[in-house]
Amino acid sequence: MDCIFCKIATKKVNVAPVIETDDVIVIKDLNPQAPVHLLVMPKAHYASVLDCKDAKLLAAMMEAAIAAAKKLKVDEKGFRLVINTNDEGGQTVFHLHMHLLAGRPLTGRLG
Ligand code: 5GP
Ligand code: ZN
Repeated sequence: MDCIFCKIATKKVNVAPVIETDDVIVIKDLNPQAPVHLLVMPKAHYASVLDCKDAKLLAAMMEAAIAAAKKLKVDEKGFRLVINTNDEGGQTVFHLHMHLLAGRPLTGRLG
């Protein structure tokens, strides 16, 4: 399967993870929408959050996001976590991922 996030998660392309665990990787977004814009993704392929029935993995994504927020010191000021899902949710890459946005006031429109 030709999935860019699978290639990133399995290091088939060059990547400098912000956080990495056995199951989850956190990277910087290629096209940042905020001073801090990270992507938190499982290493295993799920097309969207609808396909992932693994509650432990979803919790691991949340834990990795929180660890990344602390590592980049945006936890105190605050951040936003977003999972775009399917067309009207604005999903463009169909490998489950969560956005972490921070570093500016995130009022109004999401993302
Ligand atoms: P979505 O719209 O699916 O929720 O988010 C996809 C995100 O992946 C976008 O914010 C886009 O900038 C980012 N993205 C797409 N391709 C790449 C890539 O090759 N590397 C990285 N780091 N981010 C990517
Ligand atoms: Zn994938």
